[in-house]
This record gives sequence, structure tokens and C-alpha cells, in this order.
Amino acid sequence: MAGLARDGGLYVPETWPQLSKAEIGSLAGRRYQDQVMAVTRPLIAGAIPEHDLADMVERAYAGFQHAAVVPLKQLSANTWLLELFHGPTLAFKDVAMQLLARLIDYELNRRGERATIIGATSGDTGAAAVEAFKGLPSVDIFILHPKGRVSEVQRRQMTTIDDANVHNIALEGTFDDCQSIVKSLFGDHEFRDRMKLGGVNSINWARVMAQIVYYFSAAVALGAPHRKVSFSVPTGNFGDIFAGYAAKRMGLPIDRLMIATNVNDILVRMMTTGRYQLGEVTATMSPSMDIQISSNFERVLFDALGREADAVNQLMQDLSGKGGFTLPQGVREQLGADFDAARTDEAAMLAEIKATFDDTGEVADPHTAVGLAAARRMAAASEVPVVALSTAHPAKFPAAVNSAIGIEPQLPPHLSDLYQRAERVDVLPNELDQVRSYIETKAVVSK
Ligand SMILES: *Cc1c(COP(=O)(O)O)cnc(C)c1O
Repeated sequence: MAGLARDGGLYVPETWPQLSKAEIGSLAGRRYQDQVMAVTRPLIAGAIPEHDLADMVERAYAGFQHAAVVPLKQLSANTWLLELFHGPTLAFKDVAMQLLARLIDYELNRRGERATIIGATSGDTGAAAVEAFKGLPSVDIFILHPKGRVSEVQRRQMTTIDDANVHNIALEGTFDDCQSIVKSLFGDHEFRDRMKLGGVNSINWARVMAQIVYYFSAAVALGAPHRKVSFSVPTGNFGDIFAGYAAKRMGLPIDRLMIATNVNDILVRMMTTGRYQLGEVTATMSPSMDIQISSNFERVLFDALGREADAVNQLMQDLSGKGGFTLPQGVREQLGADFDAARTDEAAMLAEIKATFDDTGEVADPHTAVGLAAARRMAAASEVPVVALSTAHPAKFPAAVNSAIGIEPQLPPHLSDLYQRAERVDVLPNELDQVRSYIETKAVVSK
């Protein structure tokens, strides 16, 4: 339930469980919900009774607007689109969050406890979290978003939810400021214990776990385990692509994992120079990728550094103290065995929306287009089939899509009155103390 461990590190499995070729092969043609059970079983390892988990999985995906949950579409001879946006808030975050909320509620009820969920969002996480946790009697949820830096649809998806357990904070700062406040609150052990803090950011292990499943699902549809598959992943906090890495460690024959970024390209620079160096955050039309610190990258580093926690800790200290670190000898080559990285600027992203529309009739959102532009390079360089992850519905980012192809994508019916609903949000300065006392005042746990 906690995103961050008490020592400031992230949780990872002690060992990566292995799915045999036969087990992977047997996933083909099954319902997505059954694939979730089969892929997560070795990670959950009996901690939740099978029928309880099956019930949560069924309910988590019942609200998706497509019967396949995560449909796969062919775009060209060798390129596919994995649509992850059919959940209630139209972004891939729903795939994990809908399950996570049920897992947390289940565990709190088992313990007879309440919790205070806190999270930082660059837009989609907050919307997905608020939607998944609204109305649950076991939790208060506080979501910090950077004021004025999320799209109107993203903001309204959070602020128009009127359940009393939902608290929206518009912080006068960037996403990284939001994330740093959340990190500090988790680091304050007295506050953390008293408020029973829980985390839902992409560092939450259960979210990563839920995301591992769709890599298996797409790969078996294209012939795994007998054929290799590559993925192009629009990347911000590295949670989604880390799930792909985890799938590979669990035995899925993934050839390449493409880290597709917008101009906030710290990961691309690191893969080319070996230096992970913080810069300024630039606002783009793909705001969910407008970040500098990719938190989940720490998890890959842990493996790449031979699972030496002290070595990871040293690099993380250099990151917070000196604003960067240089990868130790050989680590960049090791990362290169799994990952490629490509940056797509705003003009190329818009051109990609147009090219995809002209070639296939599909309308991509700006995040998906960043992934598609990188996928084009992969398909040109190799025969291996490429799956581009489609992380948001185009109607979440209508202005960008309209400027690329002159078509205003429409919200699906369940959200069609979003612009008419009343909003509820409090603006707070970028100050830890003020956010802390706001949470203390509003959370039921502290009363
Ligand atoms: C969150 C998000 C991303 C980035 O995912 P990470 O797991 O943070 O790398 C990409 N696209 C969309 C639409 C998102 O909401």
C-alpha cells in the first residue's frame, strides 16, 4: 500500500518469478481477466485468496468500454497499436488504478483500518485515482496537481467528482514540486504512521504489477512465446515501460523496449551520454510526460547494478544533492541490451498524428503519437513486430489533435457533460507545511 519504503527506496520482488513457455503459450486466446490472474499469480504468491482476487479483477475491468479491455489493432505490416484507454478516465492509468483501489480497499477492510491516500499527478494519474477511490469508506484521497499545467479535461475529471472523501489540491508549482512534497510527507515517519499514508503514484508496486499483464496479452496475440515482439512506450515516470521490463524478466520474449519521450528527454540523454542530469521541465502537448525525474528508473538501476542497494542509494543521493549522476562503467551497455530511447519534439509529434491519420484513419493523442514516431524508427530498423502503446484517448487532448488534423475528437457518452459539471479544488502554495496541515485538517483519520 505504501509507494515508498521507509528508507526512501522502492519495493521490488526479491526474485523475478518465471513463466514457462508453455504457461505463456496457454495465455493466447484467453479473456483479459483470466490473463490477469495467470500473470499476477506468481507475484501475489497466495497472499490473496484466489476467488477474492478473481472477484476484484472482474469488477476492475467491468467498467471498460471495450469487451477486449485492451484491444490490439494492426496499423501497418509490422506495427500494432495497443489501446489502453478504454477505462473510465480515458488513459492507460485506469488499467492499474481500477485494480489497485480494490486491492487497497480489500486489505483495509481485512485489517479494519482506514487510510489516507496521497498522490502527485501530471494529470492522468490523479484522474484515474480519484475515479477509482471515490466514495470508498476506507480512504480519504488527496491529489496534488500542478496548477494550470494539466489539460482541462484532466483537471475536470478530478475536480468534478463530488464525493466527500476526494480532495483536490492545485499546487502553485510543477509536477516535480508536487512529487517532491509527496515524497517528503512519506519521509516524515510520524506523519506517515499517524495519518496511515498510502501511495498510488506509479512507484506503487501493485500498479506496476497490473501493467505487466498487457505486455503478455499483446505479445501472445502476436505469436509469443514462439516469436519475439518489441514495444514502444510513451514514457514519463518510467512506470509503464518498467512493467514491460518486468514482463521480459519474467520470461516474455521481448526484443526491444523503446523509451519514447517528448522534449523532456533526460532518459534519452542518459542512454546516449551515460549522464543522468536534471534540467528544466518544458511544458508540452503531452503533459503526462513533462517530468525530469523518472522515479521508476531507480528500479531498473537496481537490477543493472547487480541488486546492490548501496550503489543505487549513492546514485540517488547524487541525484538529489548534485542534480545528477554518471552511470558506472558498463551499466549503460547493460541498459542498452533491453532499451532504446528516442525523443520526439512537438512538430514531429503533430506530423505523426497527421501521418497516422492519413495512413490508417486512426486518431492518436499526443502521448500516443510520441510513441508512434519512435515505433516508426523501430519498424524501419528490424523485422520484429512493434507494438506501440496507446496511452490516452484523443478526446483528452482535443486542441493538439485538432491542430494536427483539423478534427475535434469527441468525448465518449459517459463524459459528454464534463464541461458543464461543477468543480471543487483548493489552491495551495508550493510549501510542505501548508500541504501537511491541509491534509491534517481534512482527513477523517486525524479526527
Ligand atoms: C502517465 C502517462 C504516460 C507516462 O507513463 P509513465 O508510466 O509515467 O512513464 C504516458 N502517456 C499518458 C497518456 C499518461 O497518462
